[in-house]
Amino acid sequence: MKPLKNLPKKSLVKKDTLEVKYKWLPVVNAEKCDGCGKCVEACGPRCLAIINQLAVLTEAERCGSEEHCIEPCPQKAIRMEWLPWEGDEARGKWQTPNLLAQIISKKEIGYEISN
Ligand code: SF4
Ligand code: SF4
Repeated sequence: MKPLKNLPKKSLVKKDTLEVKYKWLPVVNAEKCDGCGKCVEACGPRCLAIINQLAVLTEAERCGSEEHCIEPCPQKAIRMEWLPWEGDEARGKWQTPNLLAQIISKKEIGYEISN
């Protein structure tokens, strides 16, 4: 699974949590992002912000996982990933590790998960 280094510090998952859940969240490629702000404009819940010319997921808790930020990006700098997360499950798409493994085995998501 991808490292957590791109996530806001406040959202770090407790290491002693027995069953970590995963949320479908946008990840910005800092090499590609030029800070144009089109993803920020496209995000209704205002989850993204431009900080030092880079789009940053500042309010992941409010993210609805509906991917409206992906298509407007001219640099193709945003992708969605299942990331370990804790918080209010009323917003966004969530999976338990077991369900996530089933999804991956069925190849229902379009990217490769690496260790
Ligand atoms: S997935 Fe939706 S709510 Fe989440 S950051 Fe993108 S546009 Fe905003
Ligand atoms: S739309 Fe793409 S290039 Fe522009 S700020 Fe967002 S992630 Fe960066």
